[in-house]
Amino acid sequence: MQETRKGMLLVLSGPSGTGKGTLGARLLEEDKSFFFSVSVTTRKPRDYEIPDVHYHFIDDAAYDRLLAEDAFLEHATVHAHRYGTLKSEVYAHIDKGENVLLDIDTQGAIKVMENAPDCVTVFVLPPSYEVLYQRLHTRNTEDEDEIAKRMRNARGEIRELGRYRYALINDTFDEAYATLRHIVEAEKQNTRRFFYEVPEKL
Ligand code: 5GP
Repeated sequence: MQETRKGMLLVLSGPSGTGKGTLGARLLEEDKSFFFSVSVTTRKPRDYEIPDVHYHFIDDAAYDRLLAEDAFLEHATVHAHRYGTLKSEVYAHIDKGENVLLDIDTQGAIKVMENAPDCVTVFVLPPSYEVLYQRLHTRNTEDEDEIAKRMRNARGEIRELGRYRYALINDTFDEAYATLRHIVEAEKQNTRRFFYEVPEKL
């Protein structure tokens, strides 16, 4: 059967420290049909981050120019920094039938659900608030104030869980990743992204 497929827009959200970044990274490594949408941000790079791979790091003036050009599919202020998904990063792939992964916060995800209702949304949950707090400490990338801010934000984000299509509890990484792969494989067969010509005669 000769079919053509539209790409999938996969949105992974969840509080910082739930491991959504690691889940997404493994998916990108193993499933070459996926491309990461590199967001722009006004926050400073962390030591291990590579410009234009993890984020496009820009200043406020450049961010304002992109806003004025209507370049964003969605944008939001998260933990006091500005982030945005570029339409160009997403549609260059989707239109070719390739899949795109977005790692964005709940405010951004809600806007994407409005603008691209066929998107597949997955909310990654920690097994408990205690585990989330420990994980934020162990990864050692934020100071105590920043961790407190992220814990407060986590409560607000988890309230939005019901808007997402799937919930994924990241207790054991391998199990959570296997579940993510099942979701992705099932969604690849979703008829909304699947078209084929019906011949006039057989
Ligand atoms: P971090 O600064 O730790 O990389 O990201 C902080 C939060 O911002 C995470 O929840 C991440 O998913 C979210 N984020 C990253 N890029 C974007 C984006 O383009 N749009 C929105 N709305 N959130 C983003």
